[in-house]
Amino acid sequence: MEGDIYFQKLLEGSRSKLESPIRNETFLKERLEKIWSIYFNDVKKLNEITIRFKGKWKNKFGHIHIKENKTTEIVINGFLRDSRVPEYIIDLTIAHELVHYSHGFQSPHPKLYKHPHAGGIVTKDLKKRGFIEQLKQERKWIKEIWQPIIKEEFQKSKRSRRFWF
Ligand SMILES: [Zn+2]
Repeated sequence: MEGDIYFQKLLEGSRSKLESPIRNETFLKERLEKIWSIYFNDVKKLNEITIRFKGKWKNKFGHIHIKENKTTEIVINGFLRDSRVPEYIIDLTIAHELVHYSHGFQSPHPKLYKHPHAGGIVTKDLKKRGFIEQLKQERKWIKEIWQPIIKEEFQKSKRSRRFWF
C-alpha cells in the first residue's frame, strides 16, 4: 500500500513539473529567447544579454542595466518565481525590459528618448507589438492578486524583523 502511495506521489510530482516548469535561470533564458523571436525580431541583439532572478521588490517586476563589461543584464523580481504568479506576468516583464533595450536604454542602441518612461512610451510600444490583452490582464491581476500577496509578504517580514531584532 505504502508503495502505491509513493508511486502516485511520484506521478503527481512529474505531472506538475510538466505543467509548470521550474522557474530558474534556464527557464528565464528560454522565455527571453522566445519573446525576442516572436515580438522583437526587428530589434538587433548588439551585445551579450543575461537574465536572472534577483531581489524581492514591492514596486517593480524587473530591471535592466548595462554592466561595465558591456553586458546587458535583465533582472526579474524574485517574487515572480512564485507559482501563484502567472507566466504572462514574467513574459510582460521581459518584454518591458526589451522595449527599454530597443529604445537605447542600458543597451548599445541609439537612445531614442530622454527618459525611459517618458509619455508612456513603453506601454505604447508594448501595445504596438501585440501585448494589449496581457496588459489588461496584468492591470487586473496587480490589483486583485499581487497587491494583497505583497501586503502579506511584507507584513510577514516585518513580523520576523520585530521578532528577531
Ligand atoms: Zn521600465
